[in-house]
Amino acid sequence: MVVFRKSLQEFARTKIVATVGPACDTIEMLSSLIREGVCVFRLNMAHRSQEGHGETLENIRAAEELTGIPVAVLVDLAGPKIRLGDLGEAPVRCEVGRQFKWVRGTESHSPDELVSLYETLIDELEVGNDILLSDGLVRIRVIEKSAEMALCEVTSGGMIRSRQGINLPGVKLSVSALGKKDISNAIWACRKEVDFISLSFVRNAEEMQQLRTIVEGEGSNASLVAKIEKPEAVANLRSIVDAADGIMVARGDLGVEIDIETTAVTQKLIINMCTELGKPVIVATQMLESMHKSSRPTRAEVSDVSNAILDGADACMLSGETAIGEFPEEVVRTMYRICLSTESLVQGGVNWTKQKEDHQGSRKISDAVVTAAALVAKEIEAKLVVIGTEDGDTALLKSKHRDLIPTVGVSSSQEITRKMCLYWGIIPVLGANVNQKSELQDLVQDWAGEEVTLRSGDRVVYVTDSESIEKAHDMMIVGTIS
Ligand code: PGA
Ligand code: MN
Repeated sequence: MVVFRKSLQEFARTKIVATVGPACDTIEMLSSLIREGVCVFRLNMAHRSQEGHGETLENIRAAEELTGIPVAVLVDLAGPKIRLGDLGEAPVRCEVGRQFKWVRGTESHSPDELVSLYETLIDELEVGNDILLSDGLVRIRVIEKSAEMALCEVTSGGMIRSRQGINLPGVKLSVSALGKKDISNAIWACRKEVDFISLSFVRNAEEMQQLRTIVEGEGSNASLVAKIEKPEAVANLRSIVDAADGIMVARGDLGVEIDIETTAVTQKLIINMCTELGKPVIVATQMLESMHKSSRPTRAEVSDVSNAILDGADACMLSGETAIGEFPEEVVRTMYRICLSTESLVQGGVNWTKQKEDHQGSRKISDAVVTAAALVAKEIEAKLVVIGTEDGDTALLKSKHRDLIPTVGVSSSQEITRKMCLYWGIIPVLGANVNQKSELQDLVQDWAGEEVTLRSGDRVVYVTDSESIEKAHDMMIVGTIS
C-alpha cells in the first residue's frame, strides 16, 4: 500500500531535513515527525558514537515502515573541525585586551593558557591571524609567535568552554579533509546503506572526490553532499558543486568564517549555482532557532524560511530545534506550513533545453519531455504528473523546473525512492516496475478515491521509458482515472 503524507492539495514541495537527537529519537516521535513533514533525517557524527547512531538509524527505518512514508537518512561527517582542548571545568572569561598563551598539548595548565585538539595549530598560526571562538563571539588575534607558543590578545570578548569549535577564517590549514574518524564514519554509513553522506568544512572539489573514492570502494551509491561553510569553498564553488551530488548552505559555520553581513548574499549565490548545475541544495542552521524553547517562531525566522524557498532551496534544515529542542513536532509542523504558504509564489527554475552548455544529450531529451509534460498537464488541467524513473534523474530534472503541478516519482528501487525524498516537488513512491506501463497505471489507479483525492475522470500525465521505440529515452502519455 502506498501511503501519502498529505492530500495533493496540501502537499509541501519543499523538503524538510531534521537533525535527530535525544529530543526525537524514539520510534514514536520519529514517526510523528515523518507524518508532520520530515523527508530526510540527519545523523550528526560530531556528536554520539556509531553505536548510538546505529540505534537511531534502526528507529528511523522502523518509523518509515510504520508510517509507510519513504524517508532518507543523511550521515553528516564532522570533517576537519578544530576544537579547543581541555580548559578545565569552568568557562573561561575572555575580556577585550586580555592576553593568552596558545600552547602545545590538549590540556591547559594555567588560566592564561589555551590549547586545541589540533596538534599542529601553533605551527600553522601566523602573527595577525584571527582565531574565532564560541561561534564567532570571541575573537583573539595572534600578536607574537615562537616555536612553542602563540601569544594572543582578545579583540572581542565573551565566554569560552572546553571543546568548543575553533574557526580560523583565512588560515590555510594542513589538516586533511577526512580524518581517521571521518573515514571510519563514512565506511560505517556505507555499510548501513544510508542515502546521503555530507562532508563538513569542504575546501575544494578534490576533497569530495576523496570521499567518493571511499564510498565507491565500499560499493555504496550514497549521494554526497558538500557543506559550504568556508571561504575557500565559496571561492571554489563551481567545481565543488560539480563534484558533489548535493550542497548544504551551512550557515552556522559559514556565518563565522565569512563576514556575517554577507551571509544572505552568499546563500543566494550558492543556491543559484545549484539551480544552474541541477543539484539539490539544503539551507541550514537557525531557521527556526527560537523554537528550541518557544512553541512559536519569530517573524524574522518565518521570513527566513520563506525567503530560502524563494531563493530556490530544495530543502530547509532543522538542527537543534528537533535534536534537543522542547518542541520537535511543533517546529516541523511550523516549517511545513511556511513551506506550503510560500510555494504558490515560487516560479521558474532552470530549463535545460535552453541551456547553452553542452550537457549529455540524454539529459536534454529528458528535460524537454518533462517540460512538455508540465505544459500538457497545465493545458488539460491534469491532477498529477507521474514520473517512472529507474535512477531518479528525470525526477530531479522535473524538480528543478519548479512548476507547481503535483508530481509523483515512482521507482521500483528503494534506494532511488529515498533519494527522491530530497527533490523539491517530488512525492517519492516505491512501487511498480516503471518500465511496465500497465503496472504504473495500475498503481496510480489504486490511488483513486484515497487520500490523494484522485477521482474518476481525472487526468494524469505519465513520463516513462518507452518500450515501443528502440533507443528512446522518455515518453509522455496522458491517462484518465477510471
Ligand atoms: P553543523 O553544520 O550543524 O554540523 O555545524 C551546519 C552549519 O554549520 O550550519
Ligand atoms: Mn558546520
